[in-house]
Amino acid sequence: MNQYNVAIIGGGPGGYVAAIRSAQLGLKTVLIEEFKVGGTCLNIGCIPTKTLVKNAEILHDLKRAKERGIEVSQPKVNMPKAARMKDMVVNQLTGGVQFLLQKNGVTIINARARVVSDHALTAGGEEITFDNLIIATGSSNFIPPVPGMDDKDILTSTELLDIDHVPESLTIIGGGVIGCEFASIFNEFGCKVTIVEMMADIVPNMDRDISSALAFSMNQEGIAVKTGCKVTEVRKTGDSFDIIMEEGGEIKSVHSEEVLVSVGRKANTAGIESLELEYEKGYIKTDHHMRTSKEHIYAIGDVTGRIQLAHVASAQGVTAAENIAGKDAAMSYDLVPSCIFTIPEIGSVGMTEEQARKEGIQVIAKKFPYSACGKALAMGAPDGFVKIIADGETNKLLGCHIIGHTAAELISEAAAVMHFDGTVEDIDKTIHAHPTLSETVSEAALLALGRPIHTL
Ligand SMILES: Cc1cc2nc3c(=O)[nH]c(=O)nc-3n(C[C@H](O)[C@H](O)[C@H](O)COP(=O)(O)OP(=O)(O)OC[C@H]3O[C@@H](n4cnc5c(N)ncnc54)[C@H](O)[C@@H]3O)c2cc1C
Repeated sequence: MNQYNVAIIGGGPGGYVAAIRSAQLGLKTVLIEEFKVGGTCLNIGCIPTKTLVKNAEILHDLKRAKERGIEVSQPKVNMPKAARMKDMVVNQLTGGVQFLLQKNGVTIINARARVVSDHALTAGGEEITFDNLIIATGSSNFIPPVPGMDDKDILTSTELLDIDHVPESLTIIGGGVIGCEFASIFNEFGCKVTIVEMMADIVPNMDRDISSALAFSMNQEGIAVKTGCKVTEVRKTGDSFDIIMEEGGEIKSVHSEEVLVSVGRKANTAGIESLELEYEKGYIKTDHHMRTSKEHIYAIGDVTGRIQLAHVASAQGVTAAENIAGKDAAMSYDLVPSCIFTIPEIGSVGMTEEQARKEGIQVIAKKFPYSACGKALAMGAPDGFVKIIADGETNKLLGCHIIGHTAAELISEAAAVMHFDGTVEDIDKTIHAHPTLSETVSEAALLALGRPIHTL
């Protein structure tokens, strides 16, 4: 019988996690995915990019190996082999997700879903009826309406992941997270990279000290970072492009072999139009229980336009499934860690210094440099810092922003402390192993407490 307690459209980190949790809670669950389970994240997003980031890190280290007494001659990337490795990792993970879904008793339909009424959809010629629906259709690359930007040879992140050679030069339009990650990757691969960003800073949502430090580092590594530049046209000139931009009233241009457009994403809503849900700025409107404007229909992940990260999609998926099962689960977005896998890496959670000051809090903002950490020096990774934002009256940890080696791993400690409403004293009282990079977090806490040991 094709009647389900829960039907889920989209098998990304939102949809597949919601499906597993629904099944665990005893709900008869069907997941409909038109492409491959794992969605953008596993197939064309987080995982393939991070596999290439690792290649970039290896090259980065090899180029500096001589300083450590290791002789290596001319390391370079072999793109077809790098792509094979990336595809192997992706296939292993998507296969694992498929296995987990099956073992949890989720029915998987590999087809495009089209909702035909408030309680029915069609997929692969089957009609499916449901008590509850979770929309987890994700997002796709947004191409802005700029002359020439729709040229078929201009790349999005999806196509750049599959490129079979290292271009001589690459202009990246958009200095957000995805643009900056690709800039680090292709710069290490030997390509001349230019980032063009309209705002005054790259990764503008980060704490300002972090975005400035990233721009400085990228410039040092040879990436041209052009901020405050608005691209007005992209002209194809033979096999390459002229990117025309306006900077402070002046018209300038950059010439490059390839162009990547990474200026944002748009919600995938094909197949669900008939539901006539409420939207906000093109995304499905949801409450904290992940309910849409219709009681039995939920939306999760990128299609809600909240914070477009895989772990947010998954947390929203669990929330939706638990509410369907009769629990009272709610999402909170205050403590979502956000990481950028550039060289150097970034990890961030909680308030930035600017946000805390705007709220009128008596702010303590302190930075501990990696260069004062023994492990960082031993690793040859002295660039970076941990910035702690605390409440001057209560010492409560309000935010933590890290740039430097393995920042994305280190940020979890700050997230956990904040989850328990902890203070900078709590971080200090937690003994950190020596020598580790995690000591930079406890040293930053000591700085915030006004009693640093390994710095002044
Ligand atoms: C290059 C890149 C790098 C990224 N790196 C990171 C990172 O490092 N960390 C991080 O947290 N996030 C990262 N993200 C973001 C992350 O991939 C998304 O936030 C996440 O995938 C959103 O999950 P989702 O479940 O909402 O949607 P998606 O993962 O987009 O999955 C939606 C799925 O729905 C399917 N679908 C859509 N419509 C239908 C339909 N009608 N019928 C059937 N199936 C349908 C699609 O085929 C797709 O598989 C990255 C994104 C990109 C593009």
